[in-house]
Amino acid sequence: MWQPSRIMVDGELIAFDQACIHPLSLAVAYATTVFEGIRAYRHADGRYTLFRLHDHVRRLQIGMKVMRFDGRLEADRLAEHLSALIRANEPDDDVYVRLLVYIKGIGLMATRGPVGWTAAAMPRDKPKFAEKGMQLGVSSWSRLADNASPPRIKATANYHNARLTQLQAQSDGYDGALMLTPGGKVSEAPIACFFMVRDGRLITPSLSSNILESITRDTIVTLYEATTGRRVEQREVDRSELYFADEAFVCGTGQEIVPVVGIDRLPVGDGVPGPVTRELQRQYFEVVRGIVPDAHGWHTPV
Ligand code: PMP
Repeated sequence: MWQPSRIMVDGELIAFDQACIHPLSLAVAYATTVFEGIRAYRHADGRYTLFRLHDHVRRLQIGMKVMRFDGRLEADRLAEHLSALIRANEPDDDVYVRLLVYIKGIGLMATRGPVGWTAAAMPRDKPKFAEKGMQLGVSSWSRLADNASPPRIKATANYHNARLTQLQAQSDGYDGALMLTPGGKVSEAPIACFFMVRDGRLITPSLSSNILESITRDTIVTLYEATTGRRVEQREVDRSELYFADEAFVCGTGQEIVPVVGIDRLPVGDGVPGPVTRELQRQYFEVVRGIVPDAHGWHTPV
């Protein structure tokens, strides 16, 4: 597998292991970082495209605004920068881009700058549960509340909550976890959004269920509604409704679409990945790999 040799810091390409940040910077001391995970897919003809780059950048910019960072990210040059980064690393397979914007200054907690950014291009294995599906447990950790540490913002600080959840799931012998809101409604997995199929209806927790406004979730809603002519139900989901699911899956840029075959050691449907999940996986890969025409302007060429 290819390995990253170069990393981009504040627009400059440097050796991968030369990137550094002061331990007293606000980014380290107070977790003042917003970030994105973006995929660049390798198409059959060897070209690469970044998938939904503009939506990732938009979410990052809103994150910077909410966290009151000084300055703005130069979004128009970003596609150029990320393309240069990817080419410099000479990948021979799909690329996962990690883009971080952070306060590199040292100071009191309310310091707003100076702001720096780093982009890394890395290989990423196919998620190991994509075929056989995963077993989830409902966590006893609650998902962050919107008025405490807004989950809509992809801030590294929010991943303390996600990490505790994931660690508990591992200790309990699950492959992953589902989190509930403080009010007890289904929210999301630590790094992915959740969907379930019940009696032929596709259901996902609403954007007000303390979830990240996931780009993959939006891709799935768009594809499903266009191909079936039916609406996805975006609403509150009770914990006990999970046990009525015929199928379930989680989704995200990194995870893509991963079937969920068990929840709390109860089988989801027949306990194997179901047909709606399989069909959405098929459609998703056709779209991200450019096998079907780009009907939504989702691809940015590298
Ligand atoms: N929820 C959380 C908490 C995440 O970290 C991610 C991964 N970014 C997702 C959902 C999926 O979001 P996206 O589809 O935008 O990658």
